[in-house]
Formats: sequence, C-alpha cells, structure tokens
Amino acid sequence: MDLDELYQEVILDHYKRPRGAGLREPYEGESHQVNPTCGDEITLRVHVEGDTVADVSYENVGCSISKASASVLYELAKGSTVEDALSRLAEFTELMNSKGRGEADEETLEDAVAFTGVSKYPMRVKCALLGWMAFKDALVHATATPVEP
Ligand code: ZN
Repeated sequence: MDLDELYQEVILDHYKRPRGAGLREPYEGESHQVNPTCGDEITLRVHVEGDTVADVSYENVGCSISKASASVLYELAKGSTVEDALSRLAEFTELMNSKGRGEADEETLEDAVAFTGVSKYPMRVKCALLGWMAFKDALVHATATPVEP
C-alpha cells in the first residue's frame, strides 16, 4: 500500500466512523459554516474549561473530505490547550494552502497529514478547511472576554 492509498484509508475511516459527532452541551462558542461550491455544511460547538478545549461537538452534512476533516479536528483539538489547538489550526491551514508541496508533521497533525494530497485540489481544500474555520470562529466566541460598557 503506498502513501496515497494509506491516506485515503484514513480519510475513509474518519468519514465512516466520525469521532465525536453530534452537538453537545455545555458550550461557549458555536459557529455555522457553509461551503456552497460543494454543498458542505457544519455547525460546530466548542466547550472551553480554563485554557483547555474540553469538547468539540458538531453536526455536518457534505462530502467525505469535509466530514472526515471534522472528525480529525475533533481528535486533535479535544483535550488540548487553546494555544496548541490554534497552532495546529495554523499548521493545517498552511498545509492545505501548500498546493501539494507541504510537508506535514505527523507528530503534531496526526491523522490530519492524510489531507496532504487534498491540498493539490483547490476545490477540495475548501472542504477540508470548513470544519477548522468553524472551530476557529467558535473558539473566538468561546474565549472572547465581555467588554465592559
Ligand atoms: Zn466538500
């Protein structure tokens, strides 16, 4: 089995058995994102305790890439610190914008390295990033300090 096949297996596995799917409470931030070019949609919630991402829950419809990506995101973000989650988000976004030339770090990105090949296809990049954009947006809501009047 070559690397491309292995990566496809990983994506298919997350698509068939999504980790952490479903919307849960409590949560402090929620985001709804749509990728009209493919028809992918996601609603994602973030529960933050102190500086830890205590839970990421989501409901989504769409293609295998977008659904698998949300599942991988759940695994990477849940239980990590907000800071680590944001640095992985940045790393994954950079990988997705690499047009197939990026070198993924399996240490930090784990199963997300399986999306390396996806970065060659601009249309699919949007699918892969949808859940992560929702996560970023929800996290902003979750960690925003109320402004004193
Ligand atoms: Zn898609």
